[in-house]
Amino acid sequence: SIPLGFFGGIGASSKKGVLVKGSNFLEGLNNINTVVFDKTGTITEGIFKVNKVISKNKCEDEVLYYAAHVEFYSNHPIAQSVVKAYNKEIDEELVAEFSEISGKGVKAKVNNRPVIVGNRNFLLQEGIEAYCYQSEEDEGSALYVAVDKELLGIILIGDKIKKESYSAIKGLNSRNINTVMLTGDSNKVAKQVSEKLQIGSVYSELLPHQKVEKFEQISNQSTGNTAFIGDGINDAPVIARSDIGIAMGGLGSDAAIEAADIVVMQDNPYKIIEALEVAKRTRSIVW
Ligand code: ADP
Ligand code: MG
Repeated sequence: SIPLGFFGGIGASSKKGVLVKGSNFLEGLNNINTVVFDKTGTITEGIFKVNKVISKNKCEDEVLYYAAHVEFYSNHPIAQSVVKAYNKEIDEELVAEFSEISGKGVKAKVNNRPVIVGNRNFLLQEGIEAYCYQSEEDEGSALYVAVDKELLGIILIGDKIKKESYSAIKGLNSRNINTVMLTGDSNKVAKQVSEKLQIGSVYSELLPHQKVEKFEQISNQSTGNTAFIGDGINDAPVIARSDIGIAMGGLGSDAAIEAADIVVMQDNPYKIIEALEVAKRTRSIVW
């Protein structure tokens, strides 16, 4: 039978916007020794802002026009920022053959011209010569835009670290719980974020399947439970495979919420510390 104290714990945590799908996960929180975070939308707000558009032949408007027409069909936080920056009507009838390549970018035909929007590796893989743009610290991540198989321009988008991420990482560090960050974003941006937050280790430029592999490696090396916390965009497979999978915020896919052991309703990484505290108190009731 399930000790009653566990139910008390599940109730207490749900008042704080943390839904634990069963007492064994609450108990599992007491044995965590590593917490792995997704970056975009989890540690950072995932609300991007276009900082700058670069184009070699002064066609910044054209860069945004093509990018926005394709990104209109994606629900990635990056996509929304591009549509917002374009700030004009999207002519949906001009767009055909849209596809999204998870962790890489999007492509479609706009006005019958092939358009590709995504990170540099994606464009290189599509056979497009995309030079490496060295952004300044405050310019953010580079999004490459190709039209007719040629680089048309670069959109620089910035995201902000959530203030609760600082207290979450600090709380884990002080409890001697290892912290790790996995991201599909560039090495440069990943390093900036992890250094600011003092995250133990960081792995970047990972595709969704590589996040799973990396997570499993970390999990196998860990002596206790390994938790994963993500916003559910491109990371449902990792949530599914972790000892304790945590889906955070409302943006993620239904698949992520279904795969999760714990669902955090608010977009607040500090909830992990609150969950640890609830789990600790619950154990003391039961024991
Ligand atoms: P994270 O691991 O940081 O949560 P994702 O796996 O969602 O990031 O995406 C990784 C990278 O793939 C992004 O940094 C971006 O370069 C590219 N990317 C993903 N989706 C899109 C999109 N809709 N448009 C452009 N680029 C994208
Ligand atoms: Mg994410």
